[in-house]
Amino acid sequence: MMNKIELVGICKTFGDIPVLKDITFSATEEDFCVLVGPSGCGKTTILRIIAGLEQPTNGEIFFNGNKWNEVPPGERNVGMVFQNYALYPHLSVFENISFPLWVRREDKKSIEERVQKVSIMLGLKDKLDKKPKELSGGEKQRVALARAIVRQPNVFLFDEPLSNLDAKLRVVMRTEIVNLVKDLRVPAIYVTHDQIEALTMGTKIVVLKDGEIQQVGSPNDIYYKPANTFVATFIGVPQMNLFEGVVRDGVFCEKNSLFKLPLPDNLPCDGELIIGIRPEDFFIVDEKDAKIKTVVRTYEYIGYETIIYFEHFGKLFSLLLRKEQPKPTLNDKICLDFPVTSIHFFSGNGKRIEFNS
Ligand code: ATP
Repeated sequence: MMNKIELVGICKTFGDIPVLKDITFSATEEDFCVLVGPSGCGKTTILRIIAGLEQPTNGEIFFNGNKWNEVPPGERNVGMVFQNYALYPHLSVFENISFPLWVRREDKKSIEERVQKVSIMLGLKDKLDKKPKELSGGEKQRVALARAIVRQPNVFLFDEPLSNLDAKLRVVMRTEIVNLVKDLRVPAIYVTHDQIEALTMGTKIVVLKDGEIQQVGSPNDIYYKPANTFVATFIGVPQMNLFEGVVRDGVFCEKNSLFKLPLPDNLPCDGELIIGIRPEDFFIVDEKDAKIKTVVRTYEYIGYETIIYFEHFGKLFSLLLRKEQPKPTLNDKICLDFPVTSIHFFSGNGKRIEFNS
Protein backbone atom coordinates (compact mmCIF):
# COMPACT_ATOMS: atom_id res chain seq x y z
CA MET A 1 0.00 0.00 0.00
CA MET A 2 1.18 3.49 -0.77
CA ASN A 3 1.78 5.75 2.26
CA LYS A 4 -0.66 8.63 2.28
CA ILE A 5 -1.52 11.61 4.46
CA GLU A 6 -4.93 13.15 3.95
CA LEU A 7 -6.65 16.29 5.23
CA VAL A 8 -10.40 16.50 4.88
CA GLY A 9 -12.34 19.70 5.52
CA ILE A 10 -9.87 21.05 8.08
CA CYS A 11 -10.97 24.31 9.73
CA LYS A 12 -9.15 26.16 12.48
CA THR A 13 -10.12 29.23 14.43
CA PHE A 14 -7.97 31.03 16.97
CA GLY A 15 -10.43 32.77 19.32
CA ASP A 16 -13.09 33.75 16.83
CA ILE A 17 -10.66 34.34 13.96
CA PRO A 18 -10.82 31.69 11.25
CA VAL A 19 -7.29 30.96 9.95
CA LEU A 20 -8.05 27.76 8.01
CA LYS A 21 -11.22 27.21 6.04
CA ASP A 22 -12.15 23.79 4.66
CA ILE A 23 -8.65 22.58 3.82
CA THR A 24 -8.77 19.34 1.82
CA PHE A 25 -5.79 17.75 0.09
CA SER A 26 -3.65 14.66 0.26
CA ALA A 27 -0.06 13.64 -0.35
CA THR A 28 1.23 10.14 -1.10
CA GLU A 29 4.80 8.86 -0.96
CA GLU A 30 5.06 9.72 -4.65
CA ASP A 31 4.22 13.37 -4.07
CA PHE A 32 6.47 16.17 -3.02
CA CYS A 33 3.63 18.39 -1.89
CA VAL A 34 4.38 22.10 -1.54
CA LEU A 35 2.13 24.51 0.36
CA VAL A 36 2.71 28.01 -0.94
CA GLY A 37 1.09 31.33 -0.15
CA PRO A 38 1.76 34.75 1.31
CA SER A 39 2.76 35.31 4.92
CA GLY A 40 -0.02 34.54 7.38
CA CYS A 41 -2.13 32.41 5.01
CA GLY A 42 -2.02 29.44 7.40
CA LYS A 43 0.77 27.22 6.05
CA THR A 44 2.52 26.61 9.38
CA THR A 45 -0.80 26.00 11.11
CA ILE A 46 -1.51 23.18 8.62
CA LEU A 47 1.85 21.54 9.45
CA ARG A 48 1.22 21.90 13.18
CA ILE A 49 -2.18 20.24 12.80
CA ILE A 50 -0.61 17.32 10.91
CA ALA A 51 2.07 17.00 13.59
CA GLY A 52 -0.58 17.03 16.32
CA LEU A 53 0.75 20.22 17.92
CA GLU A 54 -2.54 21.94 17.19
CA GLN A 55 -6.08 20.48 17.11
CA PRO A 56 -8.32 21.39 14.18
CA THR A 57 -11.61 23.07 15.06
CA ASN A 58 -13.27 20.88 12.44
CA GLY A 59 -12.28 18.25 9.91
CA GLU A 60 -10.23 15.07 9.84
CA ILE A 61 -6.64 13.94 9.27
CA PHE A 62 -5.88 10.43 8.06
CA PHE A 63 -2.64 8.53 7.71
CA ASN A 64 -3.00 5.44 5.54
CA GLY A 65 -6.74 5.59 6.15
CA ASN A 66 -6.41 5.72 9.97
CA LYS A 67 -7.87 8.75 11.66
CA TRP A 68 -5.11 10.76 13.33
CA ASN A 69 -7.12 13.44 15.15
CA GLU A 70 -6.89 11.66 18.51
CA VAL A 71 -3.40 10.22 18.03
CA PRO A 72 -0.95 12.09 20.32
CA PRO A 73 1.95 13.92 18.59
CA GLY A 74 4.56 11.49 19.95
CA GLU A 75 2.85 8.54 18.28
CA ARG A 76 2.48 10.15 14.85
CA ASN A 77 6.20 9.87 14.13
CA VAL A 78 6.56 12.89 11.87
CA GLY A 79 9.97 14.16 10.79
CA MET A 80 9.94 17.94 11.01
CA VAL A 81 12.54 20.33 9.64
CA PHE A 82 12.31 24.03 10.46
CA GLN A 83 13.78 27.26 9.15
CA ASN A 84 15.86 27.80 12.31
CA TYR A 85 17.18 24.18 12.37
CA ALA A 86 16.11 23.74 16.04
CA LEU A 87 19.33 21.91 16.99
CA TYR A 88 20.39 21.43 20.61
CA PRO A 89 23.48 23.67 20.97
CA HIS A 90 25.11 21.69 23.79
CA LEU A 91 24.79 18.33 21.99
CA SER A 92 27.16 17.03 19.31
CA VAL A 93 26.03 16.37 15.75
CA PHE A 94 25.82 12.65 16.57
CA GLU A 95 23.68 13.33 19.64
CA ASN A 96 21.47 15.76 17.74
CA ILE A 97 20.82 13.29 14.94
CA SER A 98 20.23 10.35 17.27
CA PHE A 99 18.03 12.28 19.71
CA PRO A 100 14.66 10.98 18.44
CA LEU A 101 15.97 7.40 18.68
CA TRP A 102 17.11 7.81 22.30
CA VAL A 103 13.71 9.23 23.12
CA ARG A 104 12.19 6.06 21.66
CA ARG A 105 14.68 4.01 23.74
CA GLU A 106 16.07 2.14 20.78
CA ASP A 107 19.16 0.02 21.38
CA LYS A 108 22.59 1.58 21.17
CA LYS A 109 23.93 -0.57 18.35
CA SER A 110 21.01 0.06 16.02
CA ILE A 111 21.19 3.81 16.82
CA GLU A 112 24.86 3.90 15.87
CA GLU A 113 24.26 2.03 12.65
CA ARG A 114 21.43 4.28 11.58
CA VAL A 115 23.22 7.51 12.43
CA GLN A 116 26.24 6.30 10.43
CA LYS A 117 24.01 5.53 7.46
CA VAL A 118 22.24 8.91 7.36
CA SER A 119 25.42 10.84 8.09
CA ILE A 120 27.03 9.24 5.04
CA MET A 121 23.89 9.99 3.01
CA LEU A 122 24.12 13.67 3.99
CA GLY A 123 27.91 14.09 3.90
CA LEU A 124 28.14 14.58 7.69
CA LYS A 125 30.36 11.63 8.53
CA ASP A 126 33.32 13.81 9.52
CA LYS A 127 31.21 16.21 11.57
CA LEU A 128 29.63 13.82 14.07
CA ASP A 129 31.74 15.07 17.01
CA LYS A 130 31.24 18.75 16.27
CA LYS A 131 28.82 21.08 18.05
CA PRO A 132 26.23 23.01 16.00
CA LYS A 133 28.09 26.31 16.47
CA GLU A 134 31.08 24.84 14.60
CA LEU A 135 28.95 24.18 11.50
CA SER A 136 27.97 26.34 8.55
CA GLY A 137 24.29 27.10 7.87
CA GLY A 138 24.09 24.44 5.18
CA GLU A 139 25.67 21.82 7.48
CA LYS A 140 23.28 22.70 10.31
CA GLN A 141 20.36 22.23 7.95
CA ARG A 142 21.79 18.86 6.89
CA VAL A 143 21.91 17.82 10.56
CA ALA A 144 18.27 18.84 10.95
CA LEU A 145 17.44 16.80 7.84
CA ALA A 146 19.41 13.82 9.13
CA ARG A 147 17.52 13.98 12.43
CA ALA A 148 14.20 13.94 10.55
CA ILE A 149 15.30 11.04 8.32
CA VAL A 150 16.88 8.83 11.00
CA ARG A 151 13.58 8.28 12.76
CA GLN A 152 12.08 6.72 9.60
CA PRO A 153 9.04 8.94 9.87
CA ASN A 154 5.54 8.36 8.56
CA VAL A 155 5.54 11.81 7.01
CA PHE A 156 8.04 14.62 6.45
CA LEU A 157 7.05 18.19 7.29
CA PHE A 158 9.31 20.98 6.13
CA ASP A 159 8.68 24.56 7.27
CA GLU A 160 10.67 26.94 5.05
CA PRO A 161 13.87 24.97 5.75
CA LEU A 162 16.01 26.84 3.24
CA SER A 163 15.16 30.45 4.14
CA ASN A 164 18.34 31.01 6.17
CA LEU A 165 20.71 29.76 3.49
CA ASP A 166 22.37 31.86 0.80
CA ALA A 167 20.92 31.79 -2.70
CA LYS A 168 23.45 29.37 -4.17
CA LEU A 169 23.22 26.83 -1.36
CA ARG A 170 19.45 27.07 -1.46
CA VAL A 171 19.43 25.87 -5.05
CA VAL A 172 21.71 22.92 -4.19
CA MET A 173 19.69 21.94 -1.13
CA ARG A 174 16.40 22.03 -3.05
CA THR A 175 17.58 19.19 -5.26
CA GLU A 176 19.13 17.34 -2.32
CA ILE A 177 15.92 17.40 -0.30
CA VAL A 178 13.76 16.32 -3.24
CA ASN A 179 16.08 13.43 -4.12
CA LEU A 180 16.46 12.24 -0.53
CA VAL A 181 12.73 12.23 0.03
CA LYS A 182 12.05 10.43 -3.25
CA ASP A 183 14.27 7.53 -2.19
CA LEU A 184 12.67 7.21 1.23
CA ARG A 185 9.09 6.73 -0.01
CA VAL A 186 7.54 8.90 2.67
CA PRO A 187 4.90 11.58 1.92
CA ALA A 188 6.44 15.05 2.18
CA ILE A 189 4.73 18.37 2.81
CA TYR A 190 6.92 21.40 2.28
CA VAL A 191 5.95 24.95 3.22
CA THR A 192 7.36 27.98 1.45
CA HIS A 193 6.31 31.47 0.47
CA ASP A 194 8.76 31.34 -2.43
CA GLN A 195 6.95 30.52 -5.64
CA ILE A 196 10.16 29.54 -7.45
CA GLU A 197 10.85 26.96 -4.74
CA ALA A 198 7.28 25.71 -5.13
CA LEU A 199 7.57 25.32 -8.90
CA THR A 200 11.01 23.71 -8.85
CA MET A 201 10.46 21.28 -5.96
CA GLY A 202 6.78 20.42 -5.97
CA THR A 203 5.09 17.63 -7.86
CA LYS A 204 1.85 18.78 -6.26
CA ILE A 205 1.36 22.41 -5.30
CA VAL A 206 -1.31 23.69 -2.93
CA VAL A 207 -1.75 27.46 -3.29
CA LEU A 208 -3.25 29.15 -0.23
CA LYS A 209 -4.57 32.60 0.50
CA ASP A 210 -6.24 33.78 3.74
CA GLY A 211 -6.60 30.22 5.01
CA GLU A 212 -8.31 28.97 1.87
CA ILE A 213 -7.05 26.70 -0.89
CA GLN A 214 -6.99 28.53 -4.20
CA GLN A 215 -5.76 25.64 -6.35
CA VAL A 216 -4.17 22.21 -6.08
CA GLY A 217 -2.22 21.02 -9.10
CA SER A 218 1.04 20.17 -10.79
CA PRO A 219 3.53 23.00 -11.41
CA ASN A 220 2.39 22.93 -15.02
CA ASP A 221 -1.31 23.34 -14.10
CA ILE A 222 -0.57 26.12 -11.66
CA TYR A 223 1.53 28.07 -14.15
CA TYR A 224 -0.36 27.46 -17.37
CA LYS A 225 -3.89 27.06 -15.99
CA PRO A 226 -4.12 29.23 -12.88
CA ALA A 227 -7.56 28.83 -11.32
CA ASN A 228 -7.98 32.51 -10.57
CA THR A 229 -6.28 35.89 -10.79
CA PHE A 230 -4.65 35.41 -7.36
CA VAL A 231 -2.79 32.25 -8.45
CA ALA A 232 -2.07 33.85 -11.83
CA THR A 233 -0.31 36.81 -10.26
CA PHE A 234 1.24 35.00 -7.26
CA ILE A 235 3.03 32.41 -9.37
CA GLY A 236 5.44 33.74 -12.00
CA VAL A 237 8.05 36.54 -11.98
CA PRO A 238 7.45 39.19 -13.17
CA GLN A 239 3.80 38.64 -12.49
CA MET A 240 1.13 38.07 -15.13
CA ASN A 241 -0.27 41.30 -16.62
CA LEU A 242 -4.01 41.68 -16.08
CA PHE A 243 -6.25 43.90 -18.20
CA GLU A 244 -9.76 44.53 -16.87
CA GLY A 245 -12.64 45.29 -19.17
CA VAL A 246 -16.02 44.33 -20.54
CA VAL A 247 -17.16 42.29 -23.52
CA ARG A 248 -19.19 44.14 -26.17
CA ASP A 249 -20.29 42.28 -29.32
CA GLY A 250 -17.50 39.73 -29.01
CA VAL A 251 -14.84 42.37 -28.45
CA PHE A 252 -12.90 42.93 -25.22
CA CYS A 253 -12.89 46.64 -24.35
CA GLU A 254 -10.47 47.59 -21.60
CA LYS A 255 -11.80 49.92 -18.89
CA ASN A 256 -10.46 53.48 -19.02
CA SER A 257 -8.51 52.84 -22.22
CA LEU A 258 -8.86 52.53 -25.96
CA PHE A 259 -7.47 48.99 -25.99
CA LYS A 260 -9.78 46.56 -27.76
CA LEU A 261 -9.32 42.92 -28.67
CA PRO A 262 -11.60 40.65 -30.72
CA LEU A 263 -12.32 37.52 -28.69
CA PRO A 264 -12.52 33.86 -29.76
CA ASP A 265 -16.10 33.08 -30.92
CA ASN A 266 -16.68 30.31 -28.42
CA LEU A 267 -15.45 32.16 -25.29
CA PRO A 268 -18.30 31.67 -22.80
CA CYS A 269 -18.39 35.20 -21.48
CA ASP A 270 -20.32 38.41 -21.67
CA GLY A 271 -20.13 41.24 -19.18
CA GLU A 272 -16.96 41.74 -17.20
CA LEU A 273 -13.78 40.05 -18.36
CA ILE A 274 -10.16 40.09 -17.23
CA ILE A 275 -7.50 39.01 -19.66
CA GLY A 276 -4.09 37.89 -18.48
CA ILE A 277 -0.89 37.86 -20.48
CA ARG A 278 2.40 36.55 -19.11
CA PRO A 279 5.40 38.84 -19.66
CA GLU A 280 7.13 36.19 -21.79
CA ASP A 281 4.16 36.04 -24.19
CA PHE A 282 4.69 39.56 -25.53
CA PHE A 283 6.75 40.14 -28.65
CA ILE A 284 8.07 43.39 -30.06
CA VAL A 285 6.78 43.69 -33.62
CA ASP A 286 6.43 46.20 -36.47
CA GLU A 287 3.74 48.84 -36.08
CA LYS A 288 1.42 47.19 -38.60
CA ASP A 289 1.21 44.01 -36.47
CA ALA A 290 0.79 45.78 -33.11
CA LYS A 291 -1.97 44.91 -30.68
CA ILE A 292 -0.56 47.39 -28.16
CA LYS A 293 1.49 50.53 -28.87
CA THR A 294 3.34 51.75 -25.84
CA VAL A 295 6.39 53.39 -24.28
CA VAL A 296 9.26 51.87 -22.27
CA ARG A 297 9.31 53.31 -18.74
CA THR A 298 12.03 51.25 -17.00
CA TYR A 299 13.94 48.10 -17.66
CA GLU A 300 15.93 45.57 -15.66
CA TYR A 301 18.75 43.75 -17.35
CA ILE A 302 19.15 40.28 -15.81
CA GLY A 303 21.74 38.66 -18.04
CA TYR A 304 19.98 36.29 -20.38
CA GLU A 305 16.74 38.27 -20.24
CA THR A 306 15.60 41.86 -19.92
CA ILE A 307 12.41 42.85 -18.11
CA ILE A 308 10.81 45.88 -19.71
CA TYR A 309 8.14 47.86 -17.90
CA PHE A 310 5.86 49.70 -20.26
CA GLU A 311 3.13 52.20 -19.64
CA HIS A 312 -0.34 51.43 -20.87
CA PHE A 313 -3.03 54.00 -20.14
CA GLY A 314 -1.38 55.14 -16.93
CA LYS A 315 -0.50 51.71 -15.56
CA LEU A 316 2.78 49.78 -15.68
CA PHE A 317 2.94 46.34 -17.26
CA SER A 318 5.92 44.10 -17.95
CA LEU A 319 7.36 42.07 -20.74
CA LEU A 320 10.29 39.70 -20.85
CA LEU A 321 12.72 39.99 -23.72
CA ARG A 322 14.89 37.04 -24.64
CA LYS A 323 18.45 37.86 -25.49
CA GLU A 324 18.08 37.53 -29.26
CA GLN A 325 15.45 40.29 -29.39
CA PRO A 326 16.48 43.91 -30.00
CA LYS A 327 16.67 45.88 -26.74
CA PRO A 328 14.73 49.13 -26.61
CA THR A 329 15.84 51.80 -24.16
CA LEU A 330 14.06 54.29 -21.93
CA ASN A 331 11.14 56.19 -23.47
CA ASP A 332 11.37 54.25 -26.75
CA LYS A 333 8.05 53.65 -28.44
CA ILE A 334 7.43 49.94 -28.87
CA CYS A 335 4.75 47.88 -30.60
CA LEU A 336 3.65 44.64 -28.99
CA ASP A 337 1.91 41.52 -30.16
CA PHE A 338 0.96 38.33 -28.31
CA PRO A 339 -0.52 35.05 -29.51
CA VAL A 340 -4.25 34.85 -28.76
CA THR A 341 -3.68 31.25 -27.61
CA SER A 342 -1.44 32.51 -24.79
CA ILE A 343 -4.17 34.65 -23.22
CA HIS A 344 -5.66 33.64 -19.87
CA PHE A 345 -9.32 34.58 -19.50
CA PHE A 346 -10.92 35.32 -16.13
CA SER A 347 -14.46 36.39 -15.33
CA GLY A 348 -15.08 39.66 -13.47
CA ASN A 349 -14.82 37.85 -10.10
CA GLY A 350 -11.36 36.55 -11.01
CA LYS A 351 -12.24 32.90 -11.78
CA ARG A 352 -10.58 31.24 -14.75
CA ILE A 353 -12.81 30.72 -17.79
CA GLU A 354 -12.21 27.31 -19.35
CA PHE A 355 -13.02 26.79 -22.99
CA ASN A 356 -11.70 24.89 -25.99
CA SER A 357 -9.87 27.39 -28.13
P1 ATP B 1 4.34 32.74 7.54
O1 ATP B 1 4.68 32.47 6.12
O2 ATP B 1 4.45 34.18 7.91
O3 ATP B 1 5.02 31.81 8.50
P2 ATP B 1 1.92 31.12 7.58
O4 ATP B 1 1.26 31.05 6.27
O5 ATP B 1 2.75 29.96 8.01
O6 ATP B 1 2.76 32.46 7.69
P3 ATP B 1 0.52 30.74 10.07
O7 ATP B 1 1.75 30.83 10.90
O8 ATP B 1 -0.08 29.39 9.89
O9 ATP B 1 0.76 31.39 8.64
O10 ATP B 1 -0.57 31.71 10.68
C1 ATP B 1 -1.86 31.90 10.14
C2 ATP B 1 -2.63 32.92 10.93
O11 ATP B 1 -2.97 32.38 12.20
C3 ATP B 1 -1.88 34.19 11.21
O12 ATP B 1 -2.75 35.27 11.07
C4 ATP B 1 -1.40 34.05 12.64
O13 ATP B 1 -1.29 35.30 13.25
C5 ATP B 1 -2.51 33.22 13.24
N1 ATP B 1 -2.04 32.35 14.35
C6 ATP B 1 -1.15 31.35 14.24
N2 ATP B 1 -0.96 30.72 15.42
C7 ATP B 1 -1.76 31.35 16.32
C8 ATP B 1 -2.04 31.17 17.73
N3 ATP B 1 -1.45 30.21 18.43
N4 ATP B 1 -2.93 32.02 18.29
C9 ATP B 1 -3.54 32.98 17.57
N5 ATP B 1 -3.34 33.21 16.25
C10 ATP B 1 -2.46 32.40 15.63
